[in-house]
Amino acid sequence: MVTGTMMRSRRAAAGVVAVTLACLLAGGVGCRSTNFLSTRDEVHMGREVATEIEKQYPPMAGTADAARVARIGEKLMPHCEPREGVPYSFKVIAQKEINAVSLPGGPVYIYRGLLDLVGKDDDALACVLAHEVGHINARHAAKQWSQQMVTNVGLIVLLKGKAQDNGSLAAGMLHLNYSRDDEFESDARGVSYAAKAGFDPNGMVRFFKKLEASTKEKGGPPEFMRTHPDTKRRIDRVERMIETQNYRYGK
Ligand SMILES: [Zn+2]
Repeated sequence: MVTGTMMRSRRAAAGVVAVTLACLLAGGVGCRSTNFLSTRDEVHMGREVATEIEKQYPPMAGTADAARVARIGEKLMPHCEPREGVPYSFKVIAQKEINAVSLPGGPVYIYRGLLDLVGKDDDALACVLAHEVGHINARHAAKQWSQQMVTNVGLIVLLKGKAQDNGSLAAGMLHLNYSRDDEFESDARGVSYAAKAGFDPNGMVRFFKKLEASTKEKGGPPEFMRTHPDTKRRIDRVERMIETQNYRYGK
């Protein structure tokens, strides 16, 4: 999000006004809760940011990779506890980083570098896509947006639909840091969704192991690790979950 020094000077002055505005825009309901965005707000704001992201990084269209990601996303969807009124979409961005990003309100983007890492393992790819759907369904980014609205005028303007600075909001969204707990929760949701859709949930473990190996090879953390920390613990948790849940995937 826009958290640089650029915003800092504006924060003190804007803070009080922003809280009031945000409460007004949200219909004055739930201002004390951590998330006062409605699903409609999320979809609207997500769409604005998606437009900006797609201007900067046009998604791949008409390629086998794009078709594969869309097809796996479609197969997952009925088993992902889809939220009413949320138009989920699954697209590929032609960037070499190993990363995946989701926006509030439905859009999921997979970076080209992540597809290269996953190779032909559809189960692993399904687990990554389902993990991103997990973030959307648990409203992780929406909660962060809600909290940041207190100090971030740009987000409030975005909610009103007349954003001037969508570019930096989009850049912030691509590098949004989730908490460790948010990541664990999305792993659990992702594994469960993928297994229910008939994919092998061990694909998640295989993906994490490939990620670890790639980190060692390159001698530094890839992009994905910055937003998705603690790979070892995540592997342990996912393995335990698969052991105890007795999924009937692929049957
Ligand atoms: Zn994540």
